[in-house]
Amino acid sequence: MSSRERMVRVGMREGLKLCAHEGCGRPETRVNEFERSIGCWTKNYCSRSCHWSDWNLRNKAEGGGAGA
Ligand SMILES: [Zn+2]
Repeated sequence: MSSRERMVRVGMREGLKLCAHEGCGRPETRVNEFERSIGCWTKNYCSRSCHWSDWNLRNKAEGGGAGA
């Protein structure tokens, strides 16, 4: 299940963001709960561990060129 599909299932409320980490997708419980833009980040993550996990995944995907 993609994170986008999960968003729909969760039932996004207006103004509430979802964790951008693939495989997490946890929704905020209140507006601006999630930390945003550490440096140049434009996505929101429920935690630093999600933040760095996602960053690592993207970094690998971009750098490795793994065909998938
Ligand atoms: Zn998360």
